[in-house]
Amino acid sequence: MSQKYVYFFSEGNANMKELLGGKGANLAEMTNLGLPVPNGFIVTTEACNKYYDEGGVLSTEIEEQIVTSLAGLEKLTGKNYADPENLLLLSVRSGARASMPGMMNTVLNLGLTDETVAALAQKNERFAYDSQRRFIQMFSDVVMEIPNQLFESVIDEVKEHRNVKLDTELTTEDLKELVDRFKEIYKKEKGADFPQDPRYQLIESVKAVFRSWDKPSAVTYRRLNEIPSEWGTAVNIQEMVFGNMGNDCGTGVIFSRNPASGENKLYGEFLMNAQGEDVVAGVRTPNPIDELRKLNPGVYVELLGHAKRLESYFKDMQDMEFTIEKGHLFVLQTRNGKRTADAALRIAVDMVNEKMITREEALMKVEPKQLDMLLHPNFDQKKLAEAKPVASGLAASPGAATGKIVFSAEEAVERFNQGEKDLVLVRLETSPEDIEGMHVCNGILTARGGMTSHAAVVARSMGTCCVAGCDGITIREDDKYLIDSHGKKYTEDDYISIDGTTGNVYGEKIATVEAEVSGAFATFMNWADEFRRLRIRANADTPTDAKIAYGFGAEGIGLCRTEHMFFEADRISAMREMIVSKTLEQRIKALEKILPMQKEDFEELYKEMKGYPVTIRLLDPPLHEFVPREEPEIRALAKEMGLSFEEINETIDNLHEYNPMMGHRGCRVGITYSEITAMQTKAIIEAAISVNRQGMRVVPEIMIPLVGEVNEFKFVKEIIVSTAEQVIEEADADLHYMVGTMIEIPRAVVTADVIAREAEFFSFGTNDLTQMTFGFSRDDAGKFLRDYMDNKIYESDPFVKLDQTGVGELVKMAVNKGKEGRPTIKLGVCGEHGGEPSSVEFFHKVGLDYVSCSPFRVPIARLAAAQAALKEQGM
Ligand code: ADP
Ligand code: MG
Ligand code: MG
Repeated sequence: MSQKYVYFFSEGNANMKELLGGKGANLAEMTNLGLPVPNGFIVTTEACNKYYDEGGVLSTEIEEQIVTSLAGLEKLTGKNYADPENLLLLSVRSGARASMPGMMNTVLNLGLTDETVAALAQKNERFAYDSQRRFIQMFSDVVMEIPNQLFESVIDEVKEHRNVKLDTELTTEDLKELVDRFKEIYKKEKGADFPQDPRYQLIESVKAVFRSWDKPSAVTYRRLNEIPSEWGTAVNIQEMVFGNMGNDCGTGVIFSRNPASGENKLYGEFLMNAQGEDVVAGVRTPNPIDELRKLNPGVYVELLGHAKRLESYFKDMQDMEFTIEKGHLFVLQTRNGKRTADAALRIAVDMVNEKMITREEALMKVEPKQLDMLLHPNFDQKKLAEAKPVASGLAASPGAATGKIVFSAEEAVERFNQGEKDLVLVRLETSPEDIEGMHVCNGILTARGGMTSHAAVVARSMGTCCVAGCDGITIREDDKYLIDSHGKKYTEDDYISIDGTTGNVYGEKIATVEAEVSGAFATFMNWADEFRRLRIRANADTPTDAKIAYGFGAEGIGLCRTEHMFFEADRISAMREMIVSKTLEQRIKALEKILPMQKEDFEELYKEMKGYPVTIRLLDPPLHEFVPREEPEIRALAKEMGLSFEEINETIDNLHEYNPMMGHRGCRVGITYSEITAMQTKAIIEAAISVNRQGMRVVPEIMIPLVGEVNEFKFVKEIIVSTAEQVIEEADADLHYMVGTMIEIPRAVVTADVIAREAEFFSFGTNDLTQMTFGFSRDDAGKFLRDYMDNKIYESDPFVKLDQTGVGELVKMAVNKGKEGRPTIKLGVCGEHGGEPSSVEFFHKVGLDYVSCSPFRVPIARLAAAQAALKEQGM
């Protein structure tokens, strides 16, 4: 038997998303649940892949299965496709596995021909021509790729001529005129009459959906959302129901709970006498769903019932589309709704309290990366109170954004690449082509569109702040200016601020403040902590970083880079003195200036971490990074040191390296200049003794960087131990401290068992380890990594996501060997990967004790670690 490429809704279910796409699988499930879903069938994603495999050709096999199923659908509905006597019209809808809002194409009202329109017109003339003008426009746009603007401008023209604003105000005669003029456009563009063959209409529409999978905006969306191109899209072929038959008809979009705040209340919009995307297109301003309760309480209650039923069935907030035809409700789509991070947490916590889901299920529902938007600054409330809004729109996606205005998505990308990081995109409305530009902006402001407009939906899913439908401002995209509601003009050199939580727009720059973990967020994070096994530390170099990290729940510092402490103005000169010293005495004298500063830093750091472990890495970068480059500075240094300009210059020249990344850095510096090692140890130990005398119980962990050979480690460790013992003895104190190493050189991995006999802990420096394993520099790889990803040579950037097959194997090897050498060895990671969810899961699996990441990613890592533990239990 040949392969089955077509499934009726009644043959599928919600678990068949891979084959039937998300929309199709859920239409099937709703059909099975007995919800009022118009009948239909699904052409599978496998058919899409076959279409591409065969070079963009729909095989006769698939076409025949579609035609046979159409006959089945005719039986099911008791109507015939494009039969004027007993008319069945169809919609052709795309449906990928993962929902891709606005990316794919839909064609409605298939089967309309001059003949069927004439028959329809005898019953409801206005409806007949309204449907036909829609069909010609959609089919021409989506299937024939005739610019949509050609049709839109005719509509605008007719409206202007009639002096009306809304489609609904157009008369039947106007609609007839539109149909005629649309046909002319078609003929002019295609050199043929608009297709009257219903089968051709159907098959061409199916092919167009397949083609839309590969259009540039869809490809960009997939790249940004890591959706593989092999997934393909399914096509749903469904009986049409009509929201445009009159004032007892309508169409709308709802969420079972508020997608911005999470509030447990039906939320959404609808329009009477409308079809398809009218609600999201922003042509007419839709009504809030509450008004349906007054307009048609029966339908409202039924809709609410379906929403609640689907929500408890899918155990998640639902995003639904519906149409009302002559007072009858039809559900056209449901899916787990996209939501802001705020809403995600509130919904998860509420659903646990409602006993709809367990804590474990709640934890699995929130994507760790999504927390990112809660961890970033919001407006400084005081500054915000002083600012006066210059306009306001819909609070479409929460957060705060300040930046210079940019009027097009392409320009946003350009300006961003040129280094302008604070931009706010201002558009009449956005479209799928704008995705990349939306991504680089701090926020998005649109003049048109509702809560479910493209800008709003995409912004929420990207975690970007958005104010939509701000009709108080006038935007001239082409002339690059906007005018606020008080008449003030702004150009692309001006700042604007938008508040996605209130919808307010401000004509100035407003300061922002750090976020904090409280409310549902805090409850949720506490649950995460109950389930995770990995400990979460932060990479923090300063007391300020440490404080933020502690606030976000860090359980220690996994990496304190001491070199950052040397760069501050008052310290760099002491450091430079040390570097250009001619004698040991000079060097020690310079180091003695640095010692008290370092000690103070460490004390503050320990205090901020309130007794949690603190790992301090000894000096790591090559010394040339610290020396002056400009002549006046060099002269000043010479004077200070009592040396000649030439002498200093020579020392600096000697520091030059061809490849500093692989040069005199890490423990190599601490070996050449063991005084530095001794000074840093002294500062670390003295600081610990001092805070412990104030009642804390700090156990400093001294970390030696860039070890590749156990003898390097032993050499440095000896200096550390002898210095530390002396300090402890002199202070007559009792202090426990640890000495360990970074694992960041492949040779350290291979000899990890030997190193572990000397080292009490390993911390994987996965940035350097990735660099050294791949053999390219992390500072330069950016130039070609993009080509690698575009050509699918790498799936992702190995500096962002741990390369589990290569670098990950090395980590595993070092873990095993490390435990061989010292069963009690403490294992952690302090590279960037420590805050990336899929890498965190990997580190959990290989049995590390902790991950350490930047303070802002601590909550992300906490959740990712909990999810890793839950997945292990089969969640
Ligand atoms: P998208 O994936 O872009 O949301 P859909 O396939 O959901 O596209 O179609 C867009 C809109 O078209 C729907 O929200 C609905 O209003 C309308 N539509 C789709 N199928 C039908 C149908 N069978 N009857 C009536 N309207 C439909
Ligand atoms: Mg849509
Ligand atoms: Mg839809």
